[in-house]
Amino acid sequence: MNKLSIKDLDLKGKRVFVRVDFNVPIKNGKVEDDTRIRGALPTIQYAVAQGGRVVLASHLGRPKGERVDKYSLRPVAEHLARLLGRAVEFADDCAGEEARKKTDALKDGDVLLLENLRFHAEEEKNDDAFARQLAELCDGLYVNDAFGAAHRAHASTAGITKHVERAAAGLLMEKELEYLGRVISDPEHPFVAILGGAKVSDKIPVIKALINRRVDKLLIGGAMAYTFFKAEGFTVGKSLVEDDMMETAREVRKQAEEAGVELLLPTDHQVVDSYDPLNSRKTIPVEFTNAGLVGLDIGTETVAHFTGALNGAKTIIWNGPMGMFEEKPFDEGTIAIARAVADAADSGATVIVGGGDSVSAVTQAGVADRITHISTGGGATLEFLAGEELPGVTALNDK
Ligand code: AMP
Repeated sequence: MNKLSIKDLDLKGKRVFVRVDFNVPIKNGKVEDDTRIRGALPTIQYAVAQGGRVVLASHLGRPKGERVDKYSLRPVAEHLARLLGRAVEFADDCAGEEARKKTDALKDGDVLLLENLRFHAEEEKNDDAFARQLAELCDGLYVNDAFGAAHRAHASTAGITKHVERAAAGLLMEKELEYLGRVISDPEHPFVAILGGAKVSDKIPVIKALINRRVDKLLIGGAMAYTFFKAEGFTVGKSLVEDDMMETAREVRKQAEEAGVELLLPTDHQVVDSYDPLNSRKTIPVEFTNAGLVGLDIGTETVAHFTGALNGAKTIIWNGPMGMFEEKPFDEGTIAIARAVADAADSGATVIVGGGDSVSAVTQAGVADRITHISTGGGATLEFLAGEELPGVTALNDK
């Protein structure tokens, strides 16, 4: 990594502005899933241990530039205090008098969390005056640990870096860039990518980049597969497809073939009758699909094929569920793949799982701690893997 690291900064006695990703689900004033908060702990603990005065900032949800109570970060401050085992101050606004007073009062090793950045419309507009106000809350030191927000050029991820002396990557950001960077620059082969989810359109840039980078096998599951089937003239019934992606799907298949990339699609799937969805679940070969059926998960034969394709792999990336996994029992295929990638990791493969749904699948399957790297970014991970520039990374100083 050629970007400045938090470890290159002298934090002692200085206020450091740390952009974190605390965009977590909150229900009845309680944090429901604290994975993202835990992800930022190493950076926060490091800054505290160095005697820095830590000013944390994040967005939460989409309040669209207005103060909306349900998107307040206050419950996160309380949760973070418990995780850190130390007090966490909270400023009711991320800019203005309140924020300035509270940051001025910080002592070495203190932690302050600012209120939701997106309560100000200027954040998402990357407004320069607002970015300067944020920068004034620190002593010239900025750290970005919010990989999940790095694909957006906002005031707290991009604009602010023009108004500080040094802009560095946090420890989580560094880890993301290291693992994902290796996948796109120098993956160990055999290299297998598993992609799923509903939208082909979102994943086309990644698929093309992976083919260009000589991925060995590309496994495609989830509703995405139906777009590929329909493009070849198969009947997909009432399964979810993107009709405007047919041509692109054909192009991708051709590209894969020319590059010698093995593209695997499901051979069987779990379907329901669209007129009797509750009582009609069955597993059938893909080619038996008729007009009244909806495909909602990959079948057992496909699970076996996909699992077999992981044998001996040295690098595996997985993004996107194999079916409508939020609805049991259509989570079976996705959970089976979660177990299979964990087994592959145990056998020595570097396994990277990204995207909200696949990450929650490895957690639900109880295999999260066996995965080499769980990426905290959704859109950011896909854009990075597609070789696109992330404004929040570009804006950091080079080493
Ligand atoms: P994406 O945002 O493109 O990654 O898609 C994720 C969504 O795709 C999840 O909410 C899944 O429920 C959905 N999904 C995956 N496979 C299917 C399927 N066969 N039918 C309907 N929805 C699906």
